[in-house]
Amino acid sequence: MAGYFEEMGWTPLGNAEAPNHLIQMARFLRDSGMWDLLGEQERLPPPASKEAVQSLEEVEFKGDNEKKGQCPVCLKEFEKGITAKLMPCKHTFHKECIEPWLEKTNSCPLCRHELPTDDEDYEDFKKEKKRRVERKKDLEVLHDSMFT
Ligand SMILES: [Zn+2]
Ligand SMILES: [Zn+2]
Repeated sequence: MAGYFEEMGWTPLGNAEAPNHLIQMARFLRDSGMWDLLGEQERLPPPASKEAVQSLEEVEFKGDNEKKGQCPVCLKEFEKGITAKLMPCKHTFHKECIEPWLEKTNSCPLCRHELPTDDEDYEDFKKEKKRRVERKKDLEVLHDSMFT
């Protein structure tokens, strides 16, 4: 069998000196965090960057006749005089409710709209994901222009 492996350019298992690409790949995936992302899509993204949280728009509830609504986190009505945080997706939360959340993960609890993070790996991953979507779109456009 050794001759067969040699012919194929493969390294038989059991040789500790030989590079084992599968193990290396698994190690890389684990160390880079990709393993988790591949395995479970439900894993929470990293926290929002402090800058992003600080630059969130604040809204103040002043009048009684204002449409107030409730905070999706604690389900309490926004009271007159309080200041709430407005996410870029236009969802409004109590400052005290959304800030601890954004220290854990970067997306809106309601619609998963994502804020920027300080996590370089994650930002790269996101860019790559976007690029992949765009590439797919390009292909679809190309396909449409060819077949319609
Ligand atoms: Zn709240
Ligand atoms: Zn939202």
